Order: sequence, then structure tokens, then C-alpha cells
Amino acid sequence: MTKTGGCAGPKGFDVEKVRADFPIFQRTIWDKPLVYLDSGASAQKPKAVIDAMTRVMEHSFANVHRGLHTLANEATEAFEGARGDVARLLGAKSDEEIVFTRGSTEAINIVANGLSDDIGAGDEIVVSQMEHHSNIVPWHFLRERNGAVLKWAPVADDGSLDMEAYAKLLGPKTKLVAMTHMSNVLGTITDAAEIVRLAHEAGALCLLDGSQSVVHLPKTDVQALDADFYVFTGHKLYGPTGAGALYAKKKHLKRMRPFQGGGEMIESVSEDAVTFADPPQKFEAGTPSIIDAIGLGAAIRYVETIDRQAAMDHETRLMRKAQDGLKKWNDVRILGDAPGKGAIVAFDVKGAHAHDLAQIMDRFGVAVRAGSHCAEPLMRRFDCQSSLRASFAMYNTEKDVDTFLEAFEKARDILG
Ligand SMILES: *Cc1c(COP(=O)(O)O)cnc(C)c1O
Repeated sequence: MTKTGGCAGPKGFDVEKVRADFPIFQRTIWDKPLVYLDSGASAQKPKAVIDAMTRVMEHSFANVHRGLHTLANEATEAFEGARGDVARLLGAKSDEEIVFTRGSTEAINIVANGLSDDIGAGDEIVVSQMEHHSNIVPWHFLRERNGAVLKWAPVADDGSLDMEAYAKLLGPKTKLVAMTHMSNVLGTITDAAEIVRLAHEAGALCLLDGSQSVVHLPKTDVQALDADFYVFTGHKLYGPTGAGALYAKKKHLKRMRPFQGGGEMIESVSEDAVTFADPPQKFEAGTPSIIDAIGLGAAIRYVETIDRQAAMDHETRLMRKAQDGLKKWNDVRILGDAPGKGAIVAFDVKGAHAHDLAQIMDRFGVAVRAGSHCAEPLMRRFDCQSSLRASFAMYNTEKDVDTFLEAFEKARDILG
């Protein structure tokens, strides 16, 4: 095992031990060790997740709920157990406040659809310039269908959210604030508690997009944040694709109209009437992604075995090292360096295409993302065509950063 100096955290965060849990690091890319710096798009999976999913398929699989046989009961227990894992991860008051979704995208669409009776012509929805398209497009639907007005809280040059300008956008017409807890491009961690407090002061509801923050922050506490809605996606938290969650205060879930109709979400159906099941089932029409949800539960239990503060310190140290390395070049512009930013660094290079650079870097085993990162308004804000993004996870090493910087230098040389 190689020694990666400086990676042992104060409470003994052992990156090599973490890496050993992820089978993918046994493979090579173009005969080079894999340097995976694309966890912000989707993280790799530990053996614990793979095993949990395999185990249910090999041993305990059946459709969930209402089953009277052993396998149905076992599968239901595992599925509902995973709901409990999500509730614990988010600090929810009860499991009933957790709706399983396909990911953040579906969760936000459930809220947008659910609030569509409450948000009408001239009502305002406040978002920020650094939102992911997932937290923009569903609100555009309400603009198109209901005549709602989108208001944009600006991002300052350093990548932080302009809180003063945000506060000024709020008013009697504000019905909803929908904001990220951590930007997937800038790495900015927003003052979510203050965002919620100001929204409530204006009489608005507040949705937080936790897709990145649940991965990087040591702790999430929806009750302390007082969020009305909190969403995240499992595949960025070392879980499988196809499972994420919507947290919502119970009173909202009770009021909101369901998103999809079908089995599982009804109380009774007749030829001329339908009544809905209590939440969360009301929002889980059809057979859920049982295996994925169980995998997500396993991912949560896996990260609970890690000292998460130490992991965050480790990831942030790697991001800083990468950022410092990139600053050596005058034609590199780092997008966002807000105080306390998390382990993501996006940057562009004058005169070089991000896609070309990323493709060449792949030849050195380095996986980075290039493009607009599903955040076109933010790219426009920074007058950026496309950028490269290196996003760090707890399994990355100091050596990964060295290889990344070397590969970047070589790619630049090749592109001349
Ligand atoms: C990835 C991401 C999303 C969307 O997640 P899906 O898994 O595609 O639903 C939304 N917001 C942020 C900040 C993200 O990083």
C-alpha cells in the first residue's frame, strides 16, 4: 500500500482504508491508475453498497408492502429500513417525512407540481444564479403554466451568494425560495439557515437542494435549518442511481397534490372517486426502486462509519492543493473561491477548450468533467463558455491531485 503523506486526519482518517472499500480503484484507465475527480457528477460505490444490493436480489427479493409472505416482508423491512436511514441522515423528525424519489430532480418536480395550486400569476419564486438546472427548470414550468415570476439572487464575483441582494428580492409576493445548500460548480456552501430564516420572515416556503451538501458536510439537520423541503440524490452519496429523497414537513406533504397516480399511492379507488394514501406513500406511485433504495440505505450506513468531519477536512485540503496548483498559470481562471467553499474546483483556460483538455487528461487516467455542469445561468454570470471541473471525494488522495496537475500541464502542452 502506498503512503500518501498528510492524508491522515486528526481522528485518523485513513484514505487508503477508504479506497480499499471501493472496488473500482482496482482497475486502470489507459494503463494508468484511475484518478477519479468526477464525484460531483456521480460518486463511485463501496463494496457495502454493492453487497447490500446483491444480497437483496439473491436472498430477499419480492415486491414491497402488503405482502403476506416471508420474502415480501423481508424486502419491505429492508426498504422501509432504508427510509429510516435517510431520515437519520437528514435529521428528520419522522420517517413519514421522507419520500423516496429517483433523485433530486424528481424530488424538486414533486414539490413544483405539489405547489402548483398555490403559486399563481404574479407570485414570485426566488432562486439563485448558481442553481443546477434541476432547481431551475421545474420553476420555469410554473412560470409557463401559472404565470409565476422567477427572481434571481445574484452570485458575487468570489462565488458567494449575495445575501443582501437576496434579502431585497423577498417580499409579500414571494411564495417560495429554492436554493442550493452547496454549488456543484463553485463549491460554495450557502448560509442555508439564514436563507430559510429570511424566506420565512417574508412568509415564503423554502426548498434547499442538498445534492452536494449531504455528501460533503459532516452533518445535515433539516430541523435545525427549519427547511420546508430538502432534496438530495443517492448516487452522489456513494449510493446507486435511481434512489434519492424528498424531505418535507409533514403538513406540506399532507396538503400537496400527488405527482404521479397509480398503485401504492391510493387509499381507495372507485369508478368515480379516488382517495390517496397518507404520505409518504401518496408520493410513491407504482413499484418503487426497491433495490436502489436499499442500496442508498447501505450507502448512508457506510458513510456513518467514517469520521465525516475528518473526511471533509481531507477533501477540502485536496481541493485547496489543486486550486493552489492551478493558480500557477495566468490564463487559468478559477470559478468561485468563496470563504469556506467545499471540495469542488471549476476553472476555465483562456484559448483552450475544456472538452479537449478533459479528453487528453483521460489518457493519463484522470477523470474530470467539462461543460456547463447543468448550470447555464451561472456560466453566463461568469461569462464562461465551458469549464473543467475537478470534484473531490473522500477516496481521493494527494497523489491524485499531483497526477491531475501533471495531466493538466501535459494537456496544455499538447494543445499548444
Ligand atoms: C447533481 C445535482 C442535482 C441533480 O441530481 P440528479 O441526481 O440528477 O437528480 C441537483 N442539484 C445539484 C446541486 C446537483 O449537484
